[in-house]
Amino acid sequence: MSNENEKSVQLADGALMADGSLVPDGSLTADGSIYANVFSFAGLPLTRDIDRADLGAVVMGIPYDLGTSGRPGARSGPNAIRQASANLRWEAQRWPWDFRLSDRLQAVDYGDIEFSSGDSTDMLARVTEHTMRITGAGKTLISLGGDHFVTLALLRGHVGAHGKLALIHFDAHTDSYDEHEKYDHGSMFYHAPKEGLIDPARSVQIGIRTDHDRTNHAYQVIDADQANEQSVEDTVRAIRARVGESPAYLSFDIDCLDPAFAPGTGTPVVGGLSTARALRILRGIADLNIVGFDVVEVLPAYDQAQITALAGASLALEFLYMRASRS
Ligand code: MN
Ligand code: MN
Repeated sequence: MSNENEKSVQLADGALMADGSLVPDGSLTADGSIYANVFSFAGLPLTRDIDRADLGAVVMGIPYDLGTSGRPGARSGPNAIRQASANLRWEAQRWPWDFRLSDRLQAVDYGDIEFSSGDSTDMLARVTEHTMRITGAGKTLISLGGDHFVTLALLRGHVGAHGKLALIHFDAHTDSYDEHEKYDHGSMFYHAPKEGLIDPARSVQIGIRTDHDRTNHAYQVIDADQANEQSVEDTVRAIRARVGESPAYLSFDIDCLDPAFAPGTGTPVVGGLSTARALRILRGIADLNIVGFDVVEVLPAYDQAQITALAGASLALEFLYMRASRS
């Protein structure tokens, strides 16, 4: 066990400069160019020095895709999202928000979590450990997947600081399939309530359009047809009624979006939401007590013209604004 711990310290600190930066000159990432020096999410400082009191949010990548049932490749998601995020970093005040992000929120890019390749148990342990460090320091974590299985580790890392959470889950799939002992990107939300991480009675799944038990399903479902048919305001109202004041975790599987808006993903399903509709729903729930966010299942090998990576980057930036709007 002590060997394990020593290894984790080595892994966590191996790439660090003395000041906690992940690159020799942290200022390189402050470039506002939309194509030069694209090392970090939206040009945020790339560092693991997160103890600054004024720091509000941390962006973290999880390059893991061994939990996939379909197409692999989401391990390259975090870097694809960072590359696409360069298109967003010139705009100090993101439309349609009415404030500059940096006036309300200081954030950094924590880089990607390292783990022994091929070792899912090690990934779970490392991600949980880093998440506990970040949430324990009182920072809001925004994670970039990785396949959706990583959310199990993220939830484990959030409950210590926030207690049992409501889940706001955007996806084509419920990911609560009862596969008993099987752990993959389709069963996290079957296991998470059993571990006491989330309360399905305060949780809602939006954009679902695959088979699930409609007579006995613990989560509220706003399926894709409903989310596409009814007004954004009605969807927002339903989410707010379900989640209330509870501390909530927001998990966005990019396959909630229609393949027209997110072709580069592991298990695409037609008939999904548009990026525009998803963004409007998110803005409608920005003031809920959301304590953590992730965007997962971006798979650049199947992407076209960065459509999916740009959607992922735009969602992650929206999460930063949602967090900042409550500062
Ligand atoms: Mn999905
Ligand atoms: Mn999913």
